[in-house]
Amino acid sequence: MGFCIYNNVAIGAKYLLNKYKYKKVAIIDFDVHHGNGTQDIFYENENVLFISTHQYPYYPGTGSEQEKGKFNNICNIPLPAGTNSEEYLNAFEFALKKLEKFKPEFILISAGFDSHSKDPLAQFKLETEDFYIITKRILETSKNFCHGKVVSILEGGYDLQALRDSTKRHVDALIEFN
Ligand SMILES: [Zn+2]
Repeated sequence: MGFCIYNNVAIGAKYLLNKYKYKKVAIIDFDVHHGNGTQDIFYENENVLFISTHQYPYYPGTGSEQEKGKFNNICNIPLPAGTNSEEYLNAFEFALKKLEKFKPEFILISAGFDSHSKDPLAQFKLETEDFYIITKRILETSKNFCHGKVVSILEGGYDLQALRDSTKRHVDALIEFN
């Protein structure tokens, strides 16, 4: 359920687990909507850590802190409408700590840019530069256990200018890292 027919990031994670026999894959979802489909697919899968920051309460209605997964492998970070850059980045530290503890071999990013302040669908107040910072922090944290194995998949973003600029800064951080 949501806006997509196929859950690209879930297909990617399953492929890593089945074809390449990875045992620990983390998915970080910073799209403004809760990644309910991804959560459902991996709710009882101890090989996948799913971390989602999202506006809450909001569509699709899921994503409370109480939804933790069978193996404590789901980490929901619900934030209220109006969340600004500072509040978001503070909350994101918790996501990074969770990542550090899990020590994934591979990270997939559900990169949604609808948490931008200009986005018409939701009410987060992130700015273009925040996506550079978020990406940098994920990559810095991943250094010790992922060795560059990070793949980002584009998710939401409904203000075309904000989407373009934010995606560029996200990709800038990815390129710099390599
Ligand atoms: Zn979204």
